[in-house]
Amino acid sequence: MGIATVNPTTLETLQTYAALSPEAVQTKLDAAEKAFRTYCQTTLFDRSQWLMRAADILEQPARCRQYAKLMTLEMGKPLKEAMAEVKKCAWVCRYYAEQGAVFLANQSIQTDASQSWVCYQPLGIILAVMPWNFPFWQVFRFAAPALMAGNVGVLKHASNVPQCALAIADILLEAGFPPGVFQTLLISAGQVEFVLKDPRVKAATLTGSEPAGVSLASIAGSQLKKTVLELGGSDPFLILESADLEAAVATAVQARMLNTGQSCIAAKRFIVVDAIADQFLEKFVATFAEIIIGDPMDEQTHIGPLATPAILEDLEQQVQTAREHGAQVLIGGQCWSGLPGNFYQPTILTQITADNPIYHQECFGPVALVFRVPDLAAAIQLANDSPFGLGASAWTNDPQEQHELITTLEAGSVFINGMVKSDPRLPFGGIKRSGYGRELGIQGIHEFVNIKTIWVK
Ligand code: NAP
Repeated sequence: MGIATVNPTTLETLQTYAALSPEAVQTKLDAAEKAFRTYCQTTLFDRSQWLMRAADILEQPARCRQYAKLMTLEMGKPLKEAMAEVKKCAWVCRYYAEQGAVFLANQSIQTDASQSWVCYQPLGIILAVMPWNFPFWQVFRFAAPALMAGNVGVLKHASNVPQCALAIADILLEAGFPPGVFQTLLISAGQVEFVLKDPRVKAATLTGSEPAGVSLASIAGSQLKKTVLELGGSDPFLILESADLEAAVATAVQARMLNTGQSCIAAKRFIVVDAIADQFLEKFVATFAEIIIGDPMDEQTHIGPLATPAILEDLEQQVQTAREHGAQVLIGGQCWSGLPGNFYQPTILTQITADNPIYHQECFGPVALVFRVPDLAAAIQLANDSPFGLGASAWTNDPQEQHELITTLEAGSVFINGMVKSDPRLPFGGIKRSGYGRELGIQGIHEFVNIKTIWVK
């Protein structure tokens, strides 16, 4: 499948696009380079005004709904969640508009110089390779800090969300960013190498799968270009004996089902101590049974289709293989056929042993893996027995247990008695095979700048 809008609810192909020719890519890079020369001289005040205007556009009710519908149409996200995503994009624009000048201010440092300080300067063209699962949010969380810092961006978005990709570039242009400062490149994954190797492209960020991350980082490494990688995750959700079980179950279901289970920071492995495991499972299964699956445009729907037929096939295969290795299905376990699209039933698997392939895999869909453990030590050991290290959510009201979880869980973030979520104010990213570098917060805006040391005598 090339670059196209295919409605995952109906499987209809609505729009197809030809990938840009090498010459057309060159023209876009020429425009980006030309734009950078003047854009890097603009004031922080101007950039913040443009970001504020982008936020205003995103927050206009009609626009918000229009962009949300576009996401739902292209990748099947429930409309309510899509509306929330557009609003969150406005938030990140405002956040960097307000905080940018603070984060990028010179830092004076006492040394043997008369004066010495650190300043933050933009690098130039940054390539962003982005996934379809949060088609607006993933792009804005890169673009807001990168543009605030004075960089210019070129976006290679996922091939199944071309209209979202084009809409984002239009929003930033309409907001007042000069032409060339942010452009969408409708290109295939295979064309990324050509762009990344262009000497005018100074760095790259990729959110997506491990193979894509490895490929991008290898090419960037061969060119000595910096990368930030936000890759997959199989986040643990640990429930200890003192947890508020009602709240833990409600959040567990939400954390697994958000975006129809297609979120890197979705809770994917539920690790419960024996003392409360039966109670937890009973409530967990009962809540799964109430999930409404159907047309994502319907505001009553909780989960819609998976974004592509390939994702559905992969998930089906994963569950099938897990069953062949002894996993038990407590609910679901197959496709849902109420509509023609890529639907999969909310599913809970238990009895997963360490030799079951699914034990170490990420499930990108509405499938929860539940593990029973005797105690805290076993819970932490199981949580850390994963190639990934993105987020972790842990539920306990015991301060000693909280301390132990915070210090020993191998993850880029630990949320106690809450769901792992991204927030413009907090750095976001992973360790292990979940990637490296950070987005958001002050750390995010410092990823793509020259941290320049100045020494004057
Ligand atoms: P994907 O196949 O890696 O696609 C992501 C992006 O990378 C798309 O734009 C894709 O383009 C491009 N791409 C794929 N292969 C590439 C290659 N060899 N070289 C350069 N670009 C390449 O990812 P996905 O499977 O659609 O997305 C789901 C994955 O992303 C999951 O593992 C999820 O956990 C992860 N994710 C992580 C985060 C995070 O913040 N850590 C957030 C969201 C998702 P095409 O569409 O043209 O193939």
